[in-house]
Amino acid sequence: VDKPRAGEDFSGHPVVARVLDPGKAAPETGVSLLTLRGEPYRVGSVPIVLRGFLIGTLTVGDRLDETFVEKLARTFDCDVAILSGGNVAASTIPGLRGPWRGAGGDAEYVVATVPFGSDGRGHTVELLLLNSLTAALGSSGRSLAEALVACGAIAIALGGIAAWGMSRTVVRPLDRFVAFVARVAATGEREERFPRPTGAVEVDALSETFDRLQDSLAAHERRLRDMQREELERLDRLKESEKLAALGRMLSGAAHEINNPLTGVIGNVEMALRAPGISGDIRDRLLRIEKDGRRVSALVKNLLKISHRDTGARGAVDLYAVLRDAVEVRRHDFATAGMTLTLQLDGGRGVVHGSELELEQVFLNIVNNAFDALQGGSAAALTIRTRLEGDRIVVVFEDNGPGLTQPAQIFDPFFTTKPVGKGTGLGLSICHSIVEGHGGRIAADNVAGGGARFTLTFPAFDGEVASKAEEEAPKDAGRPFQASVLVVDDEPSIVELQTDLLASLGAAVESVATGAEAIERLRERAFDLIVSDLKMPGGVSGEDLFRWVAENRPDAAGRFLFVTGDTAGGAWRETEGAGARVLAKPFSMDEYLSAVREAVGGRPRAS
Ligand code: ADP
Repeated sequence: VDKPRAGEDFSGHPVVARVLDPGKAAPETGVSLLTLRGEPYRVGSVPIVLRGFLIGTLTVGDRLDETFVEKLARTFDCDVAILSGGNVAASTIPGLRGPWRGAGGDAEYVVATVPFGSDGRGHTVELLLLNSLTAALGSSGRSLAEALVACGAIAIALGGIAAWGMSRTVVRPLDRFVAFVARVAATGEREERFPRPTGAVEVDALSETFDRLQDSLAAHERRLRDMQREELERLDRLKESEKLAALGRMLSGAAHEINNPLTGVIGNVEMALRAPGISGDIRDRLLRIEKDGRRVSALVKNLLKISHRDTGARGAVDLYAVLRDAVEVRRHDFATAGMTLTLQLDGGRGVVHGSELELEQVFLNIVNNAFDALQGGSAAALTIRTRLEGDRIVVVFEDNGPGLTQPAQIFDPFFTTKPVGKGTGLGLSICHSIVEGHGGRIAADNVAGGGARFTLTFPAFDGEVASKAEEEAPKDAGRPFQASVLVVDDEPSIVELQTDLLASLGAAVESVATGAEAIERLRERAFDLIVSDLKMPGGVSGEDLFRWVAENRPDAAGRFLFVTGDTAGGAWRETEGAGARVLAKPFSMDEYLSAVREAVGGRPRAS
């Protein structure tokens, strides 16, 4: 009830004020009297310093009540009273209260006075040691004079003993404690402890409380340091991903520009190769163009992936199955080269949400890099381990090759140590953006004994993995395709290519260059299939057209195919979610034909 309450302000009290303002004269003992709701307390106060700043004081007090005086009475073997500003604050003599006018009653006392400090208003506080003259005389019949001399001597001795006792049991340990706190506050040392027991219960209690305070401050400082470190790491990551994102935007902008003409080149070469009478040298040259075109196409797809401009369908993916597949692809090569390839799955469930194709690309890229790095080494080995950490799946690739020469640059686009024609330096930057796109992290470092380590972390996912059988689309590119198709694209070469392709299979094709024209045409007649660009000049974009169809020709909305070189921004994902399919440029003839067949048949999308 009489403890200080939260919000109570003691900063004005001399004993606290002195600690808060080091400019004030140091107290002789550091002990003072504090009156709290009318009750006197003997208190000590020490500073609390956090990282060099004085943030408060630890003020510990002992109530000067009957228990306290009883304790002193036992120490000095006499009655005790405490006077604060001339009033009795506590005493062992029953009924002794109020203004001091002697011990009162019938008994006579010899009194020794010990100064004890001062209270909050500056009044002196004294400790009175009282020895009953009546009790001392007793009934022994000694002469009064003898008794008086004895009592006088006792009083003087008592005063001395009291002062010495106070000094030994309270003041000296307290002084030592204050000096200790001052030293600890100056160095910020949190581990040092004040030696206990001191013999003074109050100082022991004070130093024990101080220890607890030091512990809690140390924990607080640790938390602050951890938070600071995490913040710095976050900023580092942010800088890194911003740099990669800016580069990605630039690269994918360029890739987008290449897409349309590239689609035209590849498509037309494929068409030309199918034409009758193409043989010999011309055929060989066309095949070379087709092959090189596909290389450019693969490069462009990779560039688009850097900024997530990909079309990889997303869903629940069994990460462990993807790892097994990736390992199987290279197992033979590792064995032939005399290298060890080990996969240690933790046996748990490793399902993530994302694109199986993209994840396989990531794993293969890391495995391929390790294969390259391990060339020529003895006892060369790559070990892949997985483990679960809470709701995250961790995959670690560790090899015993030469290690990374520049781990900090490893994810930068075009950073490569491989000869021209062997490496592009895009692999790991694509891995980085794919992993981040999956809400994961990828980090690279060197292991102690040499060799590189890649650590990938993915958030685990609860969903069910779809069975493979549904995903396989039958290869039927050559079958006749008799359907009416509306092609909407502003790029004449793409329109021409699509028209030729579809017409060669027996489809009836009409084409328009804008979304507005498409709507006009659709008002006139129905089509089995609409194939549209996503970004078109004029007021009606591909998405607008899709929305119009979904509203006005709902049965046709399920037979809609977007052909686009720009899959960024997420808008296409929305339309994809509403039922439209998306085919990314550049595409091969087979890819195009299987996409249109799938769209017109209303078959479920490969996902
Ligand atoms: P590329 O393989 O085309 O060079 P990457 O981005 O995949 O592009 O890799 C970049 C570079 O990282 C490589 O050229 C190589 O120097 C380094 N690297 C990647 N993996 C390893 C590894 N396991 N050990 C040593 N160096 C590696």
